[in-house]
Amino acid sequence: MPAPLDPLVLERALHADPREDRPPGRRRLKLPPRSFLLLALALFLFSHVLSLLLGPRRSLAGTSRSIRVLFRDRPAILRIEADDLRATDGTRRFAFGRSLSLRTQGRGFLFLVGPKDLRISERPEIRLRWKGPARFSWTEGNKETNRKAFGSMAVRSENGRLRIVFHVPLELYLTGVLASEMGTRFPLEALKAQAVAARSYAISCRTRAGSKDFDLFDDAKSQVFEETSTAPEILEVVRRTRGEVLWFEGEVLRAYYHSTCGGRTRDGRSFFRDVPSPPFRPVRCPWDRASPLHAWKRLWTPSRMEAIGLPTSGGRPRIEVLERSERGDWIRLRIRFGSGPWRVLAGSSLRRNAKLPSLWIRSWRTAGKGGIVFEGRGFGHGVGLCQYGAAGWARKGADYRRILAHYYPGTTIAVLP
Ligand SMILES: [Zn+2]
Repeated sequence: MPAPLDPLVLERALHADPREDRPPGRRRLKLPPRSFLLLALALFLFSHVLSLLLGPRRSLAGTSRSIRVLFRDRPAILRIEADDLRATDGTRRFAFGRSLSLRTQGRGFLFLVGPKDLRISERPEIRLRWKGPARFSWTEGNKETNRKAFGSMAVRSENGRLRIVFHVPLELYLTGVLASEMGTRFPLEALKAQAVAARSYAISCRTRAGSKDFDLFDDAKSQVFEETSTAPEILEVVRRTRGEVLWFEGEVLRAYYHSTCGGRTRDGRSFFRDVPSPPFRPVRCPWDRASPLHAWKRLWTPSRMEAIGLPTSGGRPRIEVLERSERGDWIRLRIRFGSGPWRVLAGSSLRRNAKLPSLWIRSWRTAGKGGIVFEGRGFGHGVGLCQYGAAGWARKGADYRRILAHYYPGTTIAVLP
């Protein structure tokens, strides 16, 4: 077992901006002109051979660029503790030392550095930087959130709130995604498969971000990232899969994944219209029974039905499914009560309102006092890698490449520089 990695060492080794990392006063290499020419020629040949070997991969933005994560919370006040905190607002530079409280002031910002040390920026956007890990905290109502992370952040002042886009080096971002999406209870090979899928997903989002100032959300709308993880198992998984992505038809795959498929994954084309077909065709998933949501039962109460305007007092409910995925997920349905009018519902509305773990509904029946009980399978959209299924494969001895080849058929693994 290799020694656990110090996150600071990891950060320096993998990501720190080389300009910042250079020790001060380092001497530059002095070479006579002829040696310089030879060196230049050697470098040119080396890069040429490298580009031939790596083909199109090299032209992609590699793993050294940061991922930009938009916080869904927009706190009124953000408290930060870190070494050497600094900010720029485009015209001025600020140095704050080790702690700072940040809030909006008019269209700009108020920095509270100490009891008598207040500073103001009138610009609507700032960039905050620090050295090493930083601790952030904010309070919403009774809930206090604490996060610890490496990177930098762009903060915008918007209607009295702070809109935060966190810039975090890709591989460190992945440590946080792994901790939130799987955690260390999952077997190593499942975590490695998850790391490659999450890296591919993040890079694909970054490639398609266009003119937006962020690549992903920090929650399940994209993939969950709360803070950088320093768990030794997770650092090891990220290190061992470093730069590896799923590759399909000359691109990094937008590798959708989910918690539990319930025995069979869903055809990706029936859920995400923009995905290529072969890697997202449905596959059997025999090993996800350990998931608490492999099979489930949920009661849809009349009060929830009424919340979306269904006239539940009309009599016994009847449901007809108008459109299903090939696996059987309810895409569109209609419902009526007694002899009342039919009402057409999207499967996604039903799932949200009835709080169903998935749309793979196998049966339904009326239950006491006007409710409906649904029985179904799985948790999540069912497309791509099944996290509990991956864990099952890993426990049966499959390595992460085998797991990925199963859930994303037709893909290969490429290593980004
Ligand atoms: Zn599964």
